[in-house]
Amino acid sequence: MIRFPDYIRKHAFQRPQARALHFEGRDFTWADFSDRLHRMARVLRDLGVEPGDRVAYLGHNSHWLVELYFAPCAIGGVFVPLNFRLAEEELVAVLADCTPEILVADRHHAEQGARLTRLCPTLRHLVIADWNDTGTPDGALHLDSLIAEGTRPADDAFDESASASDETMALFYTSGTTGQPKGVMLSHQNLMVNAMGTGSAMNFGPADSILLSGPLFHLGTGSRIYTSVIYGMAMVVQARFEVVETARMIAEQKITTTTLVPTMLRMLLDHPDFPKFDFSSLRLLTYGAAPMPQALLENAIGEIPGLTFCQSYGMTEASPVLSMLPPEDHKPGNPMTGKLGSVGTPLPHCDIRIVGEDGQFLPATQRGEIIVRGPQIMRGYWNRAEETAQAMRGGFYYTGDAGYLDRDGYLFLVGRTKEMIISGGENVYPIETENCLSKHPAVAQAAVIGLPHKKWGETVHAVVALREGQSAGADELIAFCRERIAHFKAPRSVTFWSEALPLSATNKIDKAAIRAAIMARHG
Ligand code: ATP
Ligand code: MG
Repeated sequence: MIRFPDYIRKHAFQRPQARALHFEGRDFTWADFSDRLHRMARVLRDLGVEPGDRVAYLGHNSHWLVELYFAPCAIGGVFVPLNFRLAEEELVAVLADCTPEILVADRHHAEQGARLTRLCPTLRHLVIADWNDTGTPDGALHLDSLIAEGTRPADDAFDESASASDETMALFYTSGTTGQPKGVMLSHQNLMVNAMGTGSAMNFGPADSILLSGPLFHLGTGSRIYTSVIYGMAMVVQARFEVVETARMIAEQKITTTTLVPTMLRMLLDHPDFPKFDFSSLRLLTYGAAPMPQALLENAIGEIPGLTFCQSYGMTEASPVLSMLPPEDHKPGNPMTGKLGSVGTPLPHCDIRIVGEDGQFLPATQRGEIIVRGPQIMRGYWNRAEETAQAMRGGFYYTGDAGYLDRDGYLFLVGRTKEMIISGGENVYPIETENCLSKHPAVAQAAVIGLPHKKWGETVHAVVALREGQSAGADELIAFCRERIAHFKAPRSVTFWSEALPLSATNKIDKAAIRAAIMARHG
């Protein structure tokens, strides 16, 4: 069966001079990409990487990171992109979990890479990914020098040593929103099926230039690399999302599509220079990974006319997309507009069901846990047999998200089962309360958590960041919600957060950090 490196060779053969990659002012054609892929794979093999061995990357987005998505798997290795925003202790824990042979670090993480190599005895080599080798620490290797030194192996040189298409080619750690990040084992097949399903739904093709500015260590944005390689799209890589620079890149590089999480979209729209940004080349904006406040989406649809929107819902364990809300459902005045609060319809190869507490399948409109089966579901969690057995039961993956399917087959999320607040015997999903709060004109961001309470078990507590120059009191916000949603879902208390709410590494609102701060305050 075809594997990812085969697509890169195919484009290099058919369109050698077409642009494949752009990073910090440099362009790489498909011929360059294919050439560097082979050389990089040879370097890794020369350094002792055997089938099944892990190769990790620590750093910001870069063309090296994109190349490493494919070089280890060309020789049967497993790629592990690391979250550079983790604390050093957390990184040591992740490295102890996945025990890579090789750590590749960018120039910003060279020194940290050297420290980690001393702390993690299984790491055999530290390799620095940078244009020149001036910043390479003692004892470390410089990737591009190694690539330049040897010869380019023949196209088929690696095929026999490579892993089968159903073996693990990458380990992606989850965001850690509900606990410790878990390593998710994904195969070529898992990732390919998903990339094909999403790419064809969005009509991606060689005429597209995609901006990759979200964190590529996370599969939410990272999966777009796989889609680009299958559909032959040009990838423009930005080291990190930064509003003005991202807007500049969209105009300068004639970007046709990009993917944002809701907080990034809000930062773009709220920027004082927003009216000056030129988005005329953009045709499609995809978003997902965290709940999209409806008010924000409606605002974006109104502010950027001509742009189409598409939502993806999924998780690392599902390679990652399960369902998509297509552009048609984002058009005001369309009879389907009622679906704007939905995360869309399942991809053709996803069998999504809703189950009740005793595991029975529930009919349309009834709320329960979202479970799914299909060829994109992970092989399991790395080193976590118990969690794997817990998550994969009877052929289905249990997502930990709660929701329902409506009679038209649209999936609606109501929240994460772990975040559900039980107040006086009533179940409250924070998203509903957050969505209501975000409709208030003074509210910029809202996060809702449960606080322990002697009588009610838990009570609904809102943490709110106000828009600059706006004011609102707790009583006003509580009354605002009580007019619009059931009283038990409205907050009973409010904390005003003086700055923007803290974000996790994947730019989701970091509820764990917020909860810790609130609990400390409330004793
Ligand atoms: P962890 O599993 O470590 O607790 P995580 O679940 O946040 O962290 P990811 O795999 O990055 O890790 O995220 C998947 C989750 O993100 C989904 O289970 C869902 O709760 C949320 N999510 C993804 N897409 C959307 C979306 N379009 N709308 C709302 N929530 C979404
Ligand atoms: Mg999860």
